[in-house]
Amino acid sequence: MKNREQFLVIDSAMNNQEVAPQADNLTCPRCQLSHIKRNGHTYYGKQNYRCQCCGRQFVLRRQKLSDEAKQLICRLLLERISLRGICRLLDVSLCWLLNFMRQIYQTVPDDLFFRMPKESEFELLCLEADEMWSFVERKSNKQWIWLVLERRSGQIIAVQIGDRSEKSAAALWQKLPPELKANALILTDHWEACASAIPPEQHTACGKRSGQTSLIEGFNCRLRQRVSPLVRKTTSFSKNQANHQGAINYFLSHSNLERQKLTFAV
Ligand SMILES: [Zn+2]
Repeated sequence: MKNREQFLVIDSAMNNQEVAPQADNLTCPRCQLSHIKRNGHTYYGKQNYRCQCCGRQFVLRRQKLSDEAKQLICRLLLERISLRGICRLLDVSLCWLLNFMRQIYQTVPDDLFFRMPKESEFELLCLEADEMWSFVERKSNKQWIWLVLERRSGQIIAVQIGDRSEKSAAALWQKLPPELKANALILTDHWEACASAIPPEQHTACGKRSGQTSLIEGFNCRLRQRVSPLVRKTTSFSKNQANHQGAINYFLSHSNLERQKLTFAV
């Protein structure tokens, strides 16, 4: 029997669950008396209490999440872990997490923290562009992720999420900063939309086998492995466009900062 008790203690610690306090130690938020009884659980599984004097029902508010726990969530959002997994690990509600994510995603700048490689203004910038398939809410709602990668530093300069048409390719080209667009050569695969959106003197289409777009293809693969809504054959996928865009931009901006640490190391 003792083993079972030990197991339950360890299990509740592992699941990060606080043991609900005894009703005797509580006071009513309305009449301040301490005749409190347990009164079942709420829809979200929290212990409900009821004051025997005035009939007021209440649940205990959870303590505020520490800054360390919030930082941990920021890091977990960059790994291939489902949102419900994060909720279970840190004992937060999905509603709270979605709200927190929205705030985090809003802090990502439009330029994804991209920084020009040192002394690159004097040379031709070699960029690789490619698109990868994803979906939002249902598989029929295809959302192609178009990316442009700068070869020397491995950073992502621009991202466009939309269909696979010329319009998306043109929107991607428009997102490149003008000073960078002026002396850049873009390598893509043979997808026609790219050829029509990029000026021909700045565009080269190469076959997959040439290896000229291997960096961006490798990056796409990494993106799919790390951003949970993009992992294939799972039940974790984005339910709305804003979260989809947010999760991708958040990962890209972190990836850029990581690349800068490697390539601009003093
Ligand atoms: Zn009361």
